[in-house]
Amino acid sequence: NGDWAFSRERDWGTPLNIWHCGSCDAQNLAERKPLERECVGSVEELKAKPGISGIEGLSDLHRPYIDEVTYDCPQCGAEMRRVPEVIDCWFDSGAMPFAQWHYPFENQALFEERFPADYICEAVDQTRGWFYSLHALSILLKEQPCFSNVICLGHILDATGEKMSKSKGNVVTPEEVLDASGADALRWYLYTSSPPGNVRRFSGELVEEVVRKFLLTLWNTYSFFVTYANIDKFDPRTSVSQEGLPELDRWILSELNQLVDRVTRSLDQYDPTGAGRMIEDFVQDLSNWYVRRSRRRFWKSENDADKQAAYTTLYQCLVTLAKLLAPFTPFIAEELYQNLVRSVDKSAAESVHLTDYPQADLSQVDEELSADTRLAMTVSSLGRSARAKANLKVRQPLAKVLVKVRSKREQAGLNRMASQVLEELNVKRVDVTIGVPATAVTAEGLPPTIEVELDTNIDQKLADEGLARELVHRLQTMRKQAGFDIADYIETYYQGGDSIQRVMREFASYIRQETLSQTLTQGSPPDGAFAKSHTIDGDEVVLAVKRVSG
Ligand SMILES: [Zn+2]
Repeated sequence: NGDWAFSRERDWGTPLNIWHCGSCDAQNLAERKPLERECVGSVEELKAKPGISGIEGLSDLHRPYIDEVTYDCPQCGAEMRRVPEVIDCWFDSGAMPFAQWHYPFENQALFEERFPADYICEAVDQTRGWFYSLHALSILLKEQPCFSNVICLGHILDATGEKMSKSKGNVVTPEEVLDASGADALRWYLYTSSPPGNVRRFSGELVEEVVRKFLLTLWNTYSFFVTYANIDKFDPRTSVSQEGLPELDRWILSELNQLVDRVTRSLDQYDPTGAGRMIEDFVQDLSNWYVRRSRRRFWKSENDADKQAAYTTLYQCLVTLAKLLAPFTPFIAEELYQNLVRSVDKSAAESVHLTDYPQADLSQVDEELSADTRLAMTVSSLGRSARAKANLKVRQPLAKVLVKVRSKREQAGLNRMASQVLEELNVKRVDVTIGVPATAVTAEGLPPTIEVELDTNIDQKLADEGLARELVHRLQTMRKQAGFDIADYIETYYQGGDSIQRVMREFASYIRQETLSQTLTQGSPPDGAFAKSHTIDGDEVVLAVKRVSG
């Protein structure tokens, strides 16, 4: 920057505290001498001037009142008057760290305690504006910067990367976005879409995508928990011993504590984008792996230790997420906290915003378990795409999956995760060998390091099991369509060919358990049953469900 001409010809503003004598000015001009000016440093100094007039009882030091304050010229005794200019308003902005405390006239201790500020946040145009004026005053007065960190934001452009302008008609007003998607969605988009310094594209659709991809995933996970916790009257004060906790719970708690550690470190480094994206990844894993793989633990009827462990673990994840998210999405965080914590514990802090930020318990972090689970996720994802490629329904069990990994460590890790992989891929056996993958079988975005090959032979036993699963799926959909509650018991009726009859007999207990059917009856449905015709693998099937009263 060049010199800062900070006088301005305005009425509004901080009056420039400089007085001059008109008659001395005229003489100095005539003699080609420099003009003389007096800079007055305080009201006290002004009051002590000889022949002072107009200051007594003056409570407002702005124009026009201050312009009436005069005193005697020390050279010639004529009237000293204030110059008419006010100070550039950027000077006031730059004086903020001092002016807010009326320093140095008051609050010296408070000022010293707060100076320099931890951080400041403004957009990039303030580099030559506020950031600069703060810097200038602080260096002049304190010989040091007045802020230790700065988050400097890039400008917001429209969805196509054009600058927003009224004449182009591409301006998105905040109100539209707030009304459509909410303040938390807007905040989350701005935090996570790109690092603070980058310019960012902006539109209502981009913010709505945040709602779909992140907020709804979080909300659905929370809502899943609340639904079942209410059915089972789960009490979060019930303690569960960490020892003997199922692997899936130990895994998500390991991920959770790693997350707390990493988010805290990112925020300490003023990196909200990195922190937000890590939370996003965790919520995906929580929903798509932990909750999906734990669903049956919540669904089953017996209230055993395993179910308690699942509730306690998911509860801990959600409460910790509420606290982690509090600075990012204050409204959703508060909603989660009020319902999960305050509704059961009136002695808890009144608001999530009054609680301490979570602290990581690194003793719960298990790097090996994290790596092994990641491997199981990768294999499952590769296996699912192999299934899709072979056009095999997920519900059709298969005999075997062959996995080629790179090392003994991966082999051991995957064998340890075998039961999860079997369930994920709906296969009976997994064979893990070490070797260099022959072909680059990859799901999108995964490096060609692991090879997954499915045995696609289906014998009658496997086909029957697949049919049983298909029937369960159809019945569960019908339960929903009929408007039954999740916990309602039903009677099931069916009409179909040989394979249907055989499967209904041989897989009776499985089908009954999965669909909460007290009975499976062959024959036409009674009055009041919800009936539907289906075509399964070319066979006509009529299924009917009826709620058991009482
Ligand atoms: Zn004079």
